[in-house]
Amino acid sequence: MSDEVQRALDAAHRAAVEYLTGLGDRAVAPDAPDTELPIDRVLPERPVDPATVVHDLAVEAEPGLVASSGPRYFGFVTGGSVPAAMAADWMATAWDQNTALWPMSPAAITAQNIAASWLLDLLGLPPNAGVGFVTGAQMANWTCLAAARHRVLADVGWDVEAHGLLGAPHVTVVVGSSRHSTIDRALRFLGFGDQTLRTVDSDEQGRMIPEALGAVLDDVDGPLIVCAQAGEVNTGAFDPFGPIVDAAHARGGWVHVDGAFGLWARACADRRHLAEGVDRADSWSVDGHKWLNVPYDTGYAITADPEAHAAAMTQLAPYLVSQDDARRDPMNWGPDASRRARGVPTYAAIRSLGRSGIDEMIDRCCRLARRFADRLGAVDDIEILNDVVLNQVLVRFVSTEDSDAYTWMVIDRVQRDGTCWAGGTTFRGKAAMRISVSNWATTEQDVDESVAAILRCRTP
Ligand SMILES: *Cc1c(COP(=O)(O)O)cnc(C)c1O
Repeated sequence: MSDEVQRALDAAHRAAVEYLTGLGDRAVAPDAPDTELPIDRVLPERPVDPATVVHDLAVEAEPGLVASSGPRYFGFVTGGSVPAAMAADWMATAWDQNTALWPMSPAAITAQNIAASWLLDLLGLPPNAGVGFVTGAQMANWTCLAAARHRVLADVGWDVEAHGLLGAPHVTVVVGSSRHSTIDRALRFLGFGDQTLRTVDSDEQGRMIPEALGAVLDDVDGPLIVCAQAGEVNTGAFDPFGPIVDAAHARGGWVHVDGAFGLWARACADRRHLAEGVDRADSWSVDGHKWLNVPYDTGYAITADPEAHAAAMTQLAPYLVSQDDARRDPMNWGPDASRRARGVPTYAAIRSLGRSGIDEMIDRCCRLARRFADRLGAVDDIEILNDVVLNQVLVRFVSTEDSDAYTWMVIDRVQRDGTCWAGGTTFRGKAAMRISVSNWATTEQDVDESVAAILRCRTP
């Protein structure tokens, strides 16, 4: 190995270890959020030594880094990276395998295939399901819904890959009113415009109301896709899958479940019941980079109909035919052609945690969310707005004047304080702080310090 490679990797290793060592102690918000970072902006006319590039970048980027992979970041649903997954991801970079086609990397694709079967086992999904490794739940939703579009149209004799949607039989797409916005975008990419969706009302936790679904389905005829959800982004609530699947299947429909983070409840004995019946759906999107604590970009598009899945995704070109069975090529299970060895960090995360470690990680995050709700909810002028069934907590700060403005002010102060970070949301018309616990490294002490910081930020 050339000295250049060695020195560049040493610089990266040193900087990474230093960053990770300090991750639990640094302020969660960046030191320099609003100022220009001192990252060198001059396009160099001549080459710069690789180790210098890496070292300078590490130093100059430092003040603008957000400790979002650390234990007190509760914004969005983020997660960190378990050590084995992060280290394996480095290795995947060093290997630089293209995992589009089997001959390009039998090793990385084998690891990915093993990871795929482990995922199905952990999530309690059909063992022969099709699995595409994609960049995240956005593209998993898209991939699954492309498979759905294929199937429901093929069932009425229309080949959508050949003929497109112009002139196709009408497909009714039903969504819940509390769906994630990536569902709309995925559907838009597939030719189903926002205004064409049939929306079903949700209850106060954001769960689709089965009777409301029934009423919508009563006047539906022909191809049907229903989008349900495991883990509502604000509340963490689960749609009632049993009744939804029964109603949709009775009409020959396809049920897709957006389970970006919530589907991980299936890997936890004490939470599994929350997603009762979800295994009878037709497709599922789930993230690795959120709750499994795998580095970005990792999501999984899973379908119970590998035929439809492959039909929607298969890309053919004479030079791309790798061997007799194109099904072995990851390229045919998702939208990307060339891609990094995405399966490798997932393999490493699952192997290092084991079934019990994953169960424990999911359960711990839920218990820590409960701890947040109990501690904050015990304070007089604080309300917890949701049923804390999973890892999400919605906190409202009540004032005699304007509780919305007060809540946004507390959120802003908490973010500036730097002890922890939580975002804001509007839930059922009310401003709320949104706390999501999804990091493998978060402890009770992290929660207690964060609660103390939040309480401190309330007083003017
Ligand atoms: C995060 C999220 C998504 C989008 O996932 P990405 O990984 O960001 O693409 C979709 N649905 C839900 C419920 C989510 O929480």
